[in-house]
Amino acid sequence: MSDRTAGPLNAFCVDTEEWFHVCAVETPWADPSTWNAAPSRVERDTDVILQLLSDAGAKGTFPTLGWIAERYPQMVRRIADQGHEVGCHGYHHHLVYEQTPQAFRAEIDRAKKLLEDVSGQSVVTFRAPGFSITREAFWAYPILAELGFTIDTSIVPAARTHGGVAGFSRDACWLETDHGTLTLFPVSVMDVAGRAIPFSGGGYLRLFPDSLTDAGFAQNHRASRPVMAYIHPREIDVDQPRMALPWLRGFQYYVGIADCERKLRRMLARYAFGSCQAVLAAHPPRERWRYQASQMTRVTTAAGA
Ligand SMILES: [Zn+2]
Repeated sequence: MSDRTAGPLNAFCVDTEEWFHVCAVETPWADPSTWNAAPSRVERDTDVILQLLSDAGAKGTFPTLGWIAERYPQMVRRIADQGHEVGCHGYHHHLVYEQTPQAFRAEIDRAKKLLEDVSGQSVVTFRAPGFSITREAFWAYPILAELGFTIDTSIVPAARTHGGVAGFSRDACWLETDHGTLTLFPVSVMDVAGRAIPFSGGGYLRLFPDSLTDAGFAQNHRASRPVMAYIHPREIDVDQPRMALPWLRGFQYYVGIADCERKLRRMLARYAFGSCQAVLAAHPPRERWRYQASQMTRVTTAAGA
């Protein structure tokens, strides 16, 4: 850890789900009624990531599915007992923009209560499956505030095949709603040839060389912005069952799995990481937005808050 470069505390999220929880594509595991028959990898894979974090002396946030908490309560307990933040990743891994507000509210309420019961923590951080809070799904925010969430980390401020809010603030910001205030903590992006692209998690982290990942950290740190990094347990698992996916999705889903554990170990040694709550306490948001009557507007003065 002595080679860790000076820099801000960055956030590390582990979206805690199974190897078959893939979004927006048909698989034999699309129907949740099939999931109990699938071989489980999540406990084994999550324990590897817990060990990597422990070796680096780092903490993180684990947005976890309610379905996982119901089946592996002892694993969620281990996450909490090791000093990490337990967050909510929905119950069934449904995309937010495909749900009605009523169905979303019921699913997230159920998952939050389950996660709180098994972790013994108050669960305040939400990450949507597939980063699926798009502009069309901003209606989710008053619901999340009403359910007691204070942090959302579902926005990717870049164009994506699914999810993504291109042009949205790259900095964490306050969001006032009619039901309370949330902090939105976007996934990090970097500028490459004039385009905003994610770099700090998932397929991007697995695909990019270490030098490009480091350039992304440096760009964000120069702007006094902590990085939001993330991983899924399956991404370090070379022995997971492979699904037949359309070519591009298969590439995105499986590229670089064999080298991912090394990349994570390197990243965790090089930069300082904490939970979303810890990072936001150290780097409070600099701007304030308001969501009202289906409109997202920037509140331009502190007095306006
Ligand atoms: Zn997920």
